[in-house]
Amino acid sequence: MASSSYSNPPCAACKFLRRKCLPSCTFAPYFPPEEPTKFANVHKIFGASNVSKLLNEIPPHQREDAVNSLAYEAEARLKDPVYGCVGAISVLQRQVLHLQKELDATNADLMLYASNEVSHSYPLLSNPTFMRINAQYNGGEPNPRYASPWNNGSLNENSNTTNANGSM
Ligand SMILES: [Zn+2]
Repeated sequence: MASSSYSNPPCAACKFLRRKCLPSCTFAPYFPPEEPTKFANVHKIFGASNVSKLLNEIPPHQREDAVNSLAYEAEARLKDPVYGCVGAISVLQRQVLHLQKELDATNADLMLYASNEVSHSYPLLSNPTFMRINAQYNGGEPNPRYASPWNNGSLNENSNTTNANGSM
């Protein structure tokens, strides 16, 4: 956006703070004028002078990461004033635990199902162990109609048992 002024537009911080943006401005490289809310959030949560102090204390090559981290934390803190980022982390941790339990339960069901198939000689058709035994009795080729819907034969090396617990 070409301005009628000869100078560059002030950075988001200086515009927000209504001050002149000097070439030595600490904020200018990290708070471009196109992202006004980035500075507004950071200022609201941490305070401009604290951010300025912090930026001066860390080496220049780490300042951008620090600003991005502050911006992320400020946004999270505004959305969730009590927990901030920790709120998001907790939600994700609970989600991981929940999914882990679900996966364990599904694996247990799957093993139970597979072992029932073996012991009852009932359908057997999709059990990899049976596939191997069947293949031996039939002189090599398993019947393609009995092809397992999962794994595509990748259990060949360890399917003497029903592959219980072997994968952890
Ligand atoms: Zn500035």
